[in-house]
Amino acid sequence: MSGPARKIGVFLCHCGGNISDVVDVNAVREFAAKQTDVVSASDFRFMCSNEGQERLQRTIKERGLDGVVVACCTPKLYEDLFRGKAGEAGMNPYLLEIANVREQCSYAHRHEPAKATEKAKAIVKGQIEKVRRLRPLEVKTAPIHPGVAVIGAGIAGIHASLLLANLGHKVTLIEKSPTIGGNMARSVKTFPTDDCAMCTLSPKMNEVYNHPGIDLMTYAEVREAERSPGKFTLTVEKKPRYVTDACIGCNRCTERCPVSTAKAPIQVASEWDQGLSKRKAIYLPFPQALPQLWTIDSDHCFYFQRGGTCRVCSMVCPAKAIDFTMKPETVDLEVGAVVVATGFKEYDPTPLKHLAYGRHSDVVTQMQVARMLDYMGPTKGVVSRVSDGKPAESIVMVQCVGSRGAPGDPDTHEYCSRVCCMVAVKHASLIKKARPEAEIYILYNDLRAYGKGFEEYYAHSMELGVKYVRGLPGKVEAGQGKLLVDVDDMLTDRRLRIPADLVVLSAAMEPAPVDAILGSLHLDKTPDGFIKEYHAKISPTETAVKGVFIAGCAQGPKDITDSIAQAGAAAMNAAVFLGSGEMTLNPLVAEVDPLLCRACDRCTEVCEFDAVHVDLEALVARVDETSCEGCGKCTVVCPTGAISVRQFRKPQIEATIDALAPAPMAVNP
Ligand SMILES: Cc1cc2nc3c(=O)[nH]c(=O)nc-3n(C[C@H](O)[C@H](O)[C@H](O)COP(=O)(O)OP(=O)(O)OC[C@H]3O[C@@H](n4cnc5c(N)ncnc54)[C@H](O)[C@@H]3O)c2cc1C
Ligand code: SF4
Ligand code: SF4
Repeated sequence: MSGPARKIGVFLCHCGGNISDVVDVNAVREFAAKQTDVVSASDFRFMCSNEGQERLQRTIKERGLDGVVVACCTPKLYEDLFRGKAGEAGMNPYLLEIANVREQCSYAHRHEPAKATEKAKAIVKGQIEKVRRLRPLEVKTAPIHPGVAVIGAGIAGIHASLLLANLGHKVTLIEKSPTIGGNMARSVKTFPTDDCAMCTLSPKMNEVYNHPGIDLMTYAEVREAERSPGKFTLTVEKKPRYVTDACIGCNRCTERCPVSTAKAPIQVASEWDQGLSKRKAIYLPFPQALPQLWTIDSDHCFYFQRGGTCRVCSMVCPAKAIDFTMKPETVDLEVGAVVVATGFKEYDPTPLKHLAYGRHSDVVTQMQVARMLDYMGPTKGVVSRVSDGKPAESIVMVQCVGSRGAPGDPDTHEYCSRVCCMVAVKHASLIKKARPEAEIYILYNDLRAYGKGFEEYYAHSMELGVKYVRGLPGKVEAGQGKLLVDVDDMLTDRRLRIPADLVVLSAAMEPAPVDAILGSLHLDKTPDGFIKEYHAKISPTETAVKGVFIAGCAQGPKDITDSIAQAGAAAMNAAVFLGSGEMTLNPLVAEVDPLLCRACDRCTEVCEFDAVHVDLEALVARVDETSCEGCGKCTVVCPTGAISVRQFRKPQIEATIDALAPAPMAVNP
């Protein structure tokens, strides 16, 4: 290696025993002290503590360090912190590297301390060699555009929007359906307090609707998103409602619309009532919907589907609010931050053939029961058989439908949906309170009553007479004018056959389909399909994309309390981000050596972020630093090595590998 010698400091963290109980930190420190350019090597209990950070800064100043290796836990946790502290102490932050001797060493080789110590030495040496070859990078900043977009107006999006607007940020709340409210609006009552869902949600819906700091875009979806430094440009498509703001909410159009009438050739299942009732082509989703604007569903309207043969709504509308000529509108929205709160949808249990969902109309889901429990719902508050409308006298609820499936089973999810146990307890209790004579069984695997007040709620359901059977059904089939549910009771070791009027499946919560948003914002998913947070424990509302935050069930299944708590945290993070006024741009991005570049275009083909293009005049590839994520894909396909990611150049990587290679690698996993 040529160039002036570095003054490198090595700081070893014990991690309170997580590292030092396995790795001999004294031996690693002594080893590090002997490496070329290392002028200081020390170890400490917790490098991430205040005292640890002060030591780092003091040593940088006292020894005039221009290179640092912190041997500790994964860089994901504290790399930013240590780089920031190094910067404050006067060193270029990008001359600091983390040697991960916890996840990649002490955790992995707990039972082989001697070999783990040798591996730790190799990891530390690798990073020392890398730091010797690093170049200082310039830290650039960009102003953050004012304003925030919140995508999804369920309880999480509503709560986040209100907090942000009350803090003075301009909020645009984008909801894809014709009304705000999300799934909570369907719930009727909420566990564990049995509060009326609408009574708690409706005031918040009204507050959002009337807030001067919130622009509400309903029946609208983000089609594309572009990122530039400190700014997101969202292309939002507003679908045509074919009803103008002149609508006075008189409902005459709905009353007269022929769709879904007895003999009409077009019948539409109501999304709001989960298919348990029909709706017209012109409709308001539910009485408290906001905005109180009727919508024509053009896919099911005679005017659109039968060549303009029907105009009944426009003829009866006293406000002349019907406008069949409306077109989709596209709006470009510029904001500095985005909160994604797109929520969940209920799992469709049809693939689970043994449960007969979709084959027998008296097998329903909990969401359908929620609609039945609504006194304004399809069965006027009485949980009934779908086949003949008679009140259900015997009901069997089945837990974990689509949740907690076997690993690799394509029809189910491995995760627990967290709320279904309490939803079943709630619905069973509500039915029992209304009709104590109803027989209700809940078939479960493990009943999860983990939250505040949940255990008491569950105990109360038993006092009401709800019966619990530990075991999941092997089969549901029709017989004796009912459904017969076969289950092995694991606690009594008996096989039961329970006759039921209604079988209710506690179906899993799945992420709402948001692939388009994820793709254009470059967000990742966790293996369960929910949006990936930056760090599951310490950054559950942040994402890998600076300025994008997540709230509510978009991140994973949760109840209303947790959705609200997380929405508050997401709003606070977004407010801090916006309030900082400027953001630091990541300098660890790709750059091109024009002398080596052949303009072959291979890098542009593989870049997922459209961050590189070939300048046809200069015949050289150019990187847009603000779009580049530094993923390194381009560096792998470049035939000449012209494109590389800063601080991951070939000599830097090779020096790290050379340092690692001679060390004994025969450590058992
Ligand atoms: C049957 C049932 C009963 C329940 N009962 C209770 C209860 O009693 N107590 C309790 O604490 N919890 C209960 N829950 C859980 C509760 O419903 C959720 O915690 C809550 O709805 C989560 O709110 P959210 O805003 O994250 O998601 P959602 O309520 O799903 O709202 C998401 C919103 O985003 C919109 N959206 C989706 N995609 C897009 C897009 N691409 N663009 C724009 N908008 C989009 C949706 O239309 C929706 O309005 C129940 C759940 C179920 C299934
Ligand atoms: S569109 Fe016209 S008829 Fe329909 S509710 Fe509005 S005002 Fe009444
Ligand atoms: S034009 Fe469409 S929405 Fe209007 S009444 Fe006819 S079918 Fe219904």
